[in-house]
Amino acid sequence: MWNAIAEHISQKIGQRFAICDRRSVGGGSINQAYAIADGEKTFFLKLNQASQVTMFEQEALGLQEIAKSQTMRVPDPICWGTADSSAYQVMEWLNLGHGDAASWQTMGRQLAAMHRVESAHGFGWWQNNTIGSTPQPNPWTAEWLSFYREYRLRYQFQLAHRRGQHFPQESELLAALPKLLSGYDPRPVLVHGDLWSGNAAVTTEGEPVLLDPAVYYGDREVDIAMTELFGGFPAAFYQGYKAAYPLDPGYSRRKLLYNLYHILNHFNLFGGSYSAQASRMIDQLLATL
Ligand code: ADP
Repeated sequence: MWNAIAEHISQKIGQRFAICDRRSVGGGSINQAYAIADGEKTFFLKLNQASQVTMFEQEALGLQEIAKSQTMRVPDPICWGTADSSAYQVMEWLNLGHGDAASWQTMGRQLAAMHRVESAHGFGWWQNNTIGSTPQPNPWTAEWLSFYREYRLRYQFQLAHRRGQHFPQESELLAALPKLLSGYDPRPVLVHGDLWSGNAAVTTEGEPVLLDPAVYYGDREVDIAMTELFGGFPAAFYQGYKAAYPLDPGYSRRKLLYNLYHILNHFNLFGGSYSAQASRMIDQLLATL
């Protein structure tokens, strides 16, 4: 497998690459990650079961979609495929540091610029992808409300049913969406889709980067909401973002609605107490009506 991956990289970069050094990189939740090097060049490699190769391809296409927007740096995808019983994805290696306030402010400003990149086809994307390892359907849809109701919330509720979980307030919540989103008409813009703190970083040169996206064209607030879900980003990030693109009134209620998608997904991926958390969030949303 290692030779096949090295061979594929060599073909793509037009130079001989042989793996002399490989070390595990922690931090990912879904795949095994490695730094692979030949003493001169280093690449970032993710491995999973061969059946997951489509997930890697969709992620690489998502990275390319962000790169094409020329707003935010992402690692350059090099190649992906299967070798033996594994799926692999190789991308540019980035030296990641901590980042100072100025870098995080720049990240906020650049994300705001990405959030001005609109689709001409409405909400969705030209292909489905995954969120974690859960399928994420992205059919083009004219209205945000229908898109979010059908392909985000209802889809996750249906996955939960297969795990034997029925939230008693499910239909009430879905029926309440017109009220929860009333008077709000977001633009279909390029979103990262899985923007928790593990997927945003700053290089040692201070350049902000986004990792591991689940892109589609949606309401920009889904990204901002998720930055607040697991601990939050540095204050400078929000200063940079809001100075470039202020949030609309009503964001805090929608934040809860948008983060419900990720908590339902966490329940579907990991089970456990995420069902109780989702249930509390639904109650809170219904209580605002
Ligand atoms: P997973 O798909 O398993 O969640 P990630 O893409 O989030 O994996 O990567 C896991 C960790 O590896 C990240 O948190 C980050 O620290 C590091 N990482 C990700 N991409 C790169 C890269 N291109 N270069 C160097 N390190 C990276």
